[in-house]
Amino acid sequence: MTPNIEQPQKNAINIVAIVHDDVPEATRKTIYADHFQPLVKELESFTDRKVNVIFGGGAPYSNFAYRGEDTMTILRGWEALGYKFLDEMRKEGFDLSDPLTKVILVTHQNVNIKIAGIALLWPPTNTGTFAIASLNSFLHVGHEIGHLLGANHENWEVQYNGWWAETYMVPERNMIRSISYTFSSANRQNIKNYLADKK
Ligand SMILES: [Zn+2]
Repeated sequence: MTPNIEQPQKNAINIVAIVHDDVPEATRKTIYADHFQPLVKELESFTDRKVNVIFGGGAPYSNFAYRGEDTMTILRGWEALGYKFLDEMRKEGFDLSDPLTKVILVTHQNVNIKIAGIALLWPPTNTGTFAIASLNSFLHVGHEIGHLLGANHENWEVQYNGWWAETYMVPERNMIRSISYTFSSANRQNIKNYLADKK
């Protein structure tokens, strides 16, 4: 018999989701099932980590002015608020330590006419902590969290499961295809590489 060697549990990935005040009640009711549950299932299937989603709100976070053309200024503003939110949560006893805590503002509208989601990414790994995603497609939350964890556009793919479905990192949707709610194997590997040296 192989001895059962106890492996220390790896830290969870914590997704802090701030729901913007403009998100309608009907969307809020199914927000976890529609936008988060498939992503959690996908991430837990290959990362060997638990994924927690913690919903938050309240001013000045949930009324942040996220719309506009200057996405870098918007992201920097969201970053500053996000750090403040994490500080407040720490004071309340939540240990949401970086780098496995991701803070995403989920919104009703797009950031601007061209952009449905944005993430503040840093070299050399092109990963980060803060993002904004519109809820007008079931794909955007997974796409932006994917960016924060090291997935990229180049490695998206079409998967076929009886119909053609686009993986989370597709840069531009083709609406004839459905959503696979998965990352391509190359992006799964990118995410695993990012997580490899984390506790
Ligand atoms: Zn993207």
